[in-house]
Amino acid sequence: MTRSARTVTNWARNITYTAGAFHRPDTFDALRALVAGSAKVRVLGSGHSFNRIADPGSEGVLVSIAGLPPVVDVDTAARAVRVSGGVRYAELARAVHAQGLALPNLASLPHISVAGSVATGTHGSGVGNGPLAAAVREVELITADGSTVSIGRGDARFDGAVTSLGALGVVTALTLDLEPAYEVEQYVFTELPLAGLDYAAVAASAYSVSLFTDWREPGFRQVWVKRRTDQAPVDFPWAAAATAALHPVPGMPAVNCTEQLGMPGPWHERLPHFRAEFTPSSGDELQSEYLLPRSAAVDALSAVDGIRSAVAGVLQTCEVRTVAADPQWLGPAHGRDSVALHFTWIEDTAAVLPVVRRLEEALDAFGPRPHWGKVFTVPPAVLRGRYARLADFRGLTEVLDPTGKFTNAFVRDVLGG
Ligand SMILES: Cc1cc2nc3c(=O)[nH]c(=O)nc-3n(C[C@H](O)[C@H](O)[C@H](O)COP(=O)(O)OP(=O)(O)OC[C@H]3O[C@@H](n4cnc5c(N)ncnc54)[C@H](O)[C@@H]3O)c2cc1C
Repeated sequence: MTRSARTVTNWARNITYTAGAFHRPDTFDALRALVAGSAKVRVLGSGHSFNRIADPGSEGVLVSIAGLPPVVDVDTAARAVRVSGGVRYAELARAVHAQGLALPNLASLPHISVAGSVATGTHGSGVGNGPLAAAVREVELITADGSTVSIGRGDARFDGAVTSLGALGVVTALTLDLEPAYEVEQYVFTELPLAGLDYAAVAASAYSVSLFTDWREPGFRQVWVKRRTDQAPVDFPWAAAATAALHPVPGMPAVNCTEQLGMPGPWHERLPHFRAEFTPSSGDELQSEYLLPRSAAVDALSAVDGIRSAVAGVLQTCEVRTVAADPQWLGPAHGRDSVALHFTWIEDTAAVLPVVRRLEEALDAFGPRPHWGKVFTVPPAVLRGRYARLADFRGLTEVLDPTGKFTNAFVRDVLGG
């Protein structure tokens, strides 16, 4: 299928792609021929990014691989799954669980594509959990001339190949690590004060922990605690347990949220905050997120508290998570155990951007790395200074994509030089 890209938008509808054409090939060979015959190509995953990262520009073509036959091949002996890039985590998780196996972690939303998620460093939470890219064993790419390349763990290129911003080629399949299926209980605690917060202890109190606040008052309205039932019971002395299911955005009904109140359930029905069978919202939002050293969490939260009323004025909710250090060269948690400060804003770009800038100034001292798929205004030169292995990544793009077929304005800003 081919049509104009001028009507294609991202999920949040704040971005309309400027590509000359939008293609949705339904065979692998058609995809290879399209890539080989096009001067500029960017892939659109499930479109859940909030900026122009996927936009090839008016000279290029935007390609969806969602029309290719989906592949989810579980190898129980090897504890691995080979999955096509366009498959979404919800579908992948169901297939993996049916074989008695599990992924180590999931993001808050299961509707996002696997290739698009790992390309931007998407993550869940947990002091011992890296980003979703940490589970990747191998990526399979179609490169600029239409040929295929596989890059697996142990290959010198691997640490640049997973969180690649879509700049190396079309990721057609990935092989991911699995482990035996496990169960999770989810508890929500309410009103955790910022004053005296022992963030290290709170974050380590269970397998995956998220703090939520609207910044209307100091402190956190909710703490979501996801405990694996094969790990220690939850001991959470810092706040009171909720007595009814809650939505992280105050006032929203909890019906779309995953089960709470300590009811055990399969990993894939507890690790995301939102149920796979519901759409959590209609996209009336923007998002920003910054990853910075976990040891600076309380100081960084205090800095946000210092501009609390500006933030609260355009905020739906703020979530605080942890991500373990990531070897991927462009991973926002590269080389440092991180705390991730996430902001779901109202959908008004003009009102939100000045607050994003203020927030970035407030956090600047902590060297924050923005989530690649969300709204940020950090100048490219500053951003480049925050990635020690950027030159290695640039070298990899020069080898795999010498003509810059998969480079767009967003990637050019990141690569510089
Ligand atoms: C409601 C909501 C909740 C979210 N929750 C989280 C969360 O919990 N944690 C988190 O970290 N992020 C979260 N995000 C952000 C989201 O995970 C990222 O934006 C992610 O990139 C989305 O995947 P996608 O397939 O939609 O990517 P897209 O936005 O479609 O694309 C992102 C990038 O990946 C590239 N790409 C996509 N597919 C391919 C491919 N096959 N080959 C090569 N390149 C490809 C694109 O070219 C682009 O550069 C959330 C977003 C939304 C809207």
